[in-house]
Amino acid sequence: MAPNSIHWFRKGLRLHDNPALREAVKGAGTVRCVYFLDPWFAGSSNVGVNRWRFLLQCLEDLDASLRKLNSRLFVIRGQPANVFPRLFKEWKISRLTFEYDSEPFGKERDAAIKKLAMEAGVEVIVKISHTLYDLDKIIELNGAQPPLTYKRFQTLISRLDPPEMPVETLSDSFMGRCVTPISEDHGDKYGVPSLEELGFDIEGLPTAVWPGGETEALTRIERHLERKAWVANFERPRMNANSLLASPTGLSPYLRFGCLSCRLFYFKLTDLYRKVKKNSSPPLSLYGQLLWREWRGNPICVRIPWDRNMEALAKWAEAKTGFPWIDAIMTQLRQEGWIHHLARHAVACFLTRGDLWISWEEGMKVFEELLLDADWSVNAGSWMWLSCSSFFQQFFHCYCPVGFGRRTDPNGDFIRRYLPILRGFPAKYIYDPWNAPESVQAAAKCIIGVHYPKPMVHHAEASRLNIERMKQIYQQLSRYRGLGKINQSDLCCHLFLKGC
Ligand SMILES: Cc1cc2nc3c(=O)[nH]c(=O)nc-3n(C[C@H](O)[C@H](O)[C@H](O)COP(=O)(O)OP(=O)(O)OC[C@H]3O[C@@H](n4cnc5c(N)ncnc54)[C@H](O)[C@@H]3O)c2cc1C
Repeated sequence: MAPNSIHWFRKGLRLHDNPALREAVKGAGTVRCVYFLDPWFAGSSNVGVNRWRFLLQCLEDLDASLRKLNSRLFVIRGQPANVFPRLFKEWKISRLTFEYDSEPFGKERDAAIKKLAMEAGVEVIVKISHTLYDLDKIIELNGAQPPLTYKRFQTLISRLDPPEMPVETLSDSFMGRCVTPISEDHGDKYGVPSLEELGFDIEGLPTAVWPGGETEALTRIERHLERKAWVANFERPRMNANSLLASPTGLSPYLRFGCLSCRLFYFKLTDLYRKVKKNSSPPLSLYGQLLWREWRGNPICVRIPWDRNMEALAKWAEAKTGFPWIDAIMTQLRQEGWIHHLARHAVACFLTRGDLWISWEEGMKVFEELLLDADWSVNAGSWMWLSCSSFFQQFFHCYCPVGFGRRTDPNGDFIRRYLPILRGFPAKYIYDPWNAPESVQAAAKCIIGVHYPKPMVHHAEASRLNIERMKQIYQQLSRYRGLGKINQSDLCCHLFLKGC
């Protein structure tokens, strides 16, 4: 008898390049595509409304694409471990497919579901398609240790087979005789919920700057690749006044949710490069940005004795630092869910080693809540990097919360857009309005300390002190390294315990 399948969507919210979904359909009699949502968890979770909305839009889009194949998406209310056993029985399931998840929480969840499925006599098929490479293979090739430098990571991947080509999009012809049984009350039982249903108050919520879904992702990638000159002369991310704003070619939220396949992106880049550069192979630098996604699982982190200062943390998170450059970026993050890579550098440096000396873990949590592209390992790894807790040790390079913004957007339009209270300031003072004469503040209808906060720290003094603290930590670290007896994690504990 032809198997009855369930394909379980988690990330990988797409019909293109979805090998696990194709496995579900291959030779099957019935297929049901499910997504689990726990409405209780949704309302109380630490995920911002922008990301929830993005997810719901992805699910709506997925459902619309499945309808075109005479199928539907089943949004199941509840927890997979509680509901799967019932579904296996009710739908007489014999095959379960899903995309491999490399994150610790996902691995644990999937192991439990695999066990449940085995007990119910259900075959489980798992495919890798969220990353270009099998991340476990990279670790295995490195002697069961995650690579600690990007260079080492590049060496390892050069020894692996190139990434696999994307598989074909699920189509009518591939569906063949495989059908989805859909009941009349499907919408009531399994429809995509609204934000209100998940407990969000949407009054006054502005329209999404980043609409979710595979359809949008596929339009964006075409636009992205139209920038042939960019592809041909690939450079590291630069920032100017324009690039600070959400771009219709931005891809990270779509890659994060898997609305866009990273393999499709990779191979489209390769094709385009060859066309533009006439037959030569693309340089690794072209893939560089995309490869950062793959460099995960680095456990080494210097335990720096950061200050615990909830009040200062709240000022940073709520855009009340008194530094317009930092506050405008944090406002954009809260309102829209995305900020430019170097804007992430600016606010992360300010919170940690630059000015406030607050742990990167606190900043990471705020990003985790507000970023549309929040990715457990990329986010944590980037925060460790920026705070000089791992990977990167050039703590003497600090971003200035005034000069960095001024160089990027000399006119201050970005500040005026996100902090309208400062709109009336001339460009000369918009990054340091506290230095504006009283008459200028009065003319701008914004008195610093009354309508907009005074700077919460003296940047020059704070950064000087923090660089000195870091210097001492790294000096001690190198002394321990000199002993050569203790390993890095012992060393981190030593530093932590000694409170240096
Ligand atoms: C403190 C901090 C936290 C970050 N947290 C995240 C996160 O949670 N999720 C996330 O996807 N990116 C994160 N980044 C990386 C980077 O800022 C974003 O990927 C980038 O801004 C996305 O914009 P884009 O789509 O225009 O990227 P492009 O420059 O067009 O790059 C194309 C794609 O490559 C990937 N990419 C680019 N740069 C990086 C990078 N440095 N690390 C990993 N992937 C990269 C993204 O998926 C991106 O969409 C973080 C950076 C910092 C400094």
